[in-house]
Amino acid sequence: MATIIYGTRETAKNMGYLGQEESCGACGRTYKKALMKYTSWFHIYYIPLIPYKKTYFNMCPICGAGYDVDKNTAKSLIQAGGVGHPGFEVFAKHILANKQKGLFKADTSYELWVKDLATGEEICIEQNIEKERVNEVKRVRGLKKVPIIDIK
Ligand SMILES: [Zn+2]
Repeated sequence: MATIIYGTRETAKNMGYLGQEESCGACGRTYKKALMKYTSWFHIYYIPLIPYKKTYFNMCPICGAGYDVDKNTAKSLIQAGGVGHPGFEVFAKHILANKQKGLFKADTSYELWVKDLATGEEICIEQNIEKERVNEVKRVRGLKKVPIIDIK
């Protein structure tokens, strides 16, 4: 008998850097927020079939802090558009890339960085984290990839 694999999964999409510039309460940087759309899907064999929930989140493009916005607010932000920002590159540094295998139980030598592509400024946003946290940030920000630079 074949087992049917089904369940739910969530996808994230960056809808753009929209609205007014706002100072972030967490990191203090002033940018337009990234409007994130999270869609929950019912899937069969990991193929998303039916979206059953959409939520919106205004995210600081630097540190990722932010707040939920309702569907109507999200719609008006998208309709108003705004001056585009070339975007932000999220990358990680693996500080102890050359360490001996099995040296630590958990490797917390990763750092998360965000590069402002408009100014070229590189900002370290998290330190002493595990690779799992890097993957989580990738998911939450709807990124295909977070390059990891090995520090040797
Ligand atoms: Zn912030």
